[in-house]
Amino acid sequence: MLMKRVHLFLPSLILCCVLAAWAQNAEKQPQLEYFDPSQADRSLHPCQDFYKFACNKWFAANAIPPDQEYWGTGSSLDLWNDTVLRETMEKAAVVSADRTPVHQKVGDFWAACTDEKAIDAAGTRDLATDLRRIDSLRNKSALAEEVAHLHMMIPGAWEGLWNDNQAPVAFFGFGSTQDLDDASMVVLFVDQGGMGLPGRDFYLKDDAKSVEIRSKYQDHIRKMLTLSGESQEQAAKGAETILALETAMAKSAMDNVSRRDPTNVNNKMSLEQIQALTPAFDWKHYIALVGAPAPHHYIVTSPQFFKGLEQLLEQHPLEHWKAYLRWQMVHGSAPYLANAFVGENFDFYSRILSGAQQQLPRWRRCVRSADRDLGEALGQAYVERAFPPESKRMAIEMVHDVEDGLSRDIDGLDWMTPATKQEAQKKLKAVEAKVGYPDRWRDYSSVTITRTSYLNNVHSATAFEFRRQLTKVGKPVDRTEWRLTPPTNGAYYDAQLNTIAFPAGNFLPPYFDPKTDAAVNYGATGGGLIGHEITHGFDDQGRKFDASGNLRDWWTVEDAKAYEERGKCFADQYTQEVPEAGVRQDGRLTQGEDTADNGGVRIAFMALDSRLKRDGVSLDEKGSDGWTARQRFFLSYANSYCTEARPEAIRTHVLTSPHSFERYRVNNVVSNMPEFWQAFGCKKGVPMMRENACRVW
Ligand SMILES: [Zn+2]
Repeated sequence: MLMKRVHLFLPSLILCCVLAAWAQNAEKQPQLEYFDPSQADRSLHPCQDFYKFACNKWFAANAIPPDQEYWGTGSSLDLWNDTVLRETMEKAAVVSADRTPVHQKVGDFWAACTDEKAIDAAGTRDLATDLRRIDSLRNKSALAEEVAHLHMMIPGAWEGLWNDNQAPVAFFGFGSTQDLDDASMVVLFVDQGGMGLPGRDFYLKDDAKSVEIRSKYQDHIRKMLTLSGESQEQAAKGAETILALETAMAKSAMDNVSRRDPTNVNNKMSLEQIQALTPAFDWKHYIALVGAPAPHHYIVTSPQFFKGLEQLLEQHPLEHWKAYLRWQMVHGSAPYLANAFVGENFDFYSRILSGAQQQLPRWRRCVRSADRDLGEALGQAYVERAFPPESKRMAIEMVHDVEDGLSRDIDGLDWMTPATKQEAQKKLKAVEAKVGYPDRWRDYSSVTITRTSYLNNVHSATAFEFRRQLTKVGKPVDRTEWRLTPPTNGAYYDAQLNTIAFPAGNFLPPYFDPKTDAAVNYGATGGGLIGHEITHGFDDQGRKFDASGNLRDWWTVEDAKAYEERGKCFADQYTQEVPEAGVRQDGRLTQGEDTADNGGVRIAFMALDSRLKRDGVSLDEKGSDGWTARQRFFLSYANSYCTEARPEAIRTHVLTSPHSFERYRVNNVVSNMPEFWQAFGCKKGVPMMRENACRVW
């Protein structure tokens, strides 16, 4: 994505023991796993392949479960978090006279989602009106009306600027954003979108695997259209047309490396200018129907995409667009429909594209869609259960220590002039940290949730969220809002708010444990999470925004040049073959995340150093396990990333994600760090001690 980055902590976990003290329901509550340094494989040398050294025993003891695409040391935490949410929802589903409105919504959402029998019996009942409406479209000028309907029903239209590649729903993405040049102003954006494959490359690459995936995609579209009631012949013809349309859209879409540069997407336009880009689409009608307020201006991320869309609208007959819209409607509704739809959707997106062998159990799928749709209602009970005040206090202390580490790092840089250092310090000082959960919970009272239709519940929640995003236009920026829900195991930096946010769901084992020593917490949470997000404010994207969140160049010419040279070192180093997936990583796509990984671990190490000094402990003091604090720091960092993955998932990840795969998040980082070489006594010539080590921060 561009301005906001979600840091995805892929599932990771470390071996071992210890029952969760708060496990009230021993039958259902899975065990959390705790960091265990004895899992390091001492038959290997840490300076040869540190990831293997730290993870080998774990790999040997953990097979990837059939319903998983990734399985790592944090997967037990994901399961634990999901289980807490499940218990909350089950309790709320019991109808009683004293149910609160929040419990009614959460409980009835759960009841509708878990009633598979009723969902199967309903078939396409709740979709029929929408499909009929598409069939009755009389001319192309009515397309705008249908796209507006779709955007208000299918989750995700507003995610454009959040997304690495494109908006997930029909035609384009639409939502509100802070203006790039003036972060105090909320405007509207229009983004490329409407393609069902995970990225532009999937349509355009012509290697054998890509061709095979496209053929299977076309087959998947055909099957879905058949399930929705089309004849075999109509569905087959439709699938061919739809793939052709989406391929043409991909050709005019901006590639994901170009999208990373905020200046490329910062195209301000008036409504008249957008209308001139795409005369065949009735923008005024669309905007009236979705009820968007008039903004000062629009940001059109990729004008070229809309020029291409215009050509397509002119070239293709109405029947083609009807097929496309039916597909978009069925595709976007599939997870909430009968099992035949759910199964076919799983088969293509999770099995073929990501290698999973079976579906997640129903209850976990229900928990996840409730977390997306009612996250701050569901999250309140989670916080009470999983995030005690002591964890919050320690997390805030760690954030301060790591920020202080970056401040000292900036002061010590030999490549930056005092003028730029001063600006960097100003920006760092202005970073606002959010820890745990919002001060004020979102009000879902206008969302209608019933026990009778899972699909309608999702539609209602989608309309609420879409409207909520649009009504921000023209109002003061809400600095208190969170982009992730409290139980999320992941975090983000928001360049336009200049904010870092760490949901409560991160502060549990194996990443964080209030009872363990600082080296372990500062390695996994301090480096992998907190340091990483803080550094995003100063990666190749983040550095282009100033302390107030405006896209403004605060660098001297020579410092910018020095930065770019150092950044290129990372881009080159991470441009590498990923053998198990048969694809090549583009280090320009992952440069921001790689910079954040490398900088994050360094400043977290500095934070640990000063923390231990305060505590009167040496970095070289050995624990009962025989490892020094500096070694435990790196072992904990590496352990948090031990991850097994399906080759299909790695392939899709490398082609679309701005994050490097886990092995590189460990080995490339430590092989760039003298602090690591010192910790494990690495000597010149070993793989984990690079001759051309890269460093920005
Ligand atoms: Zn990140």
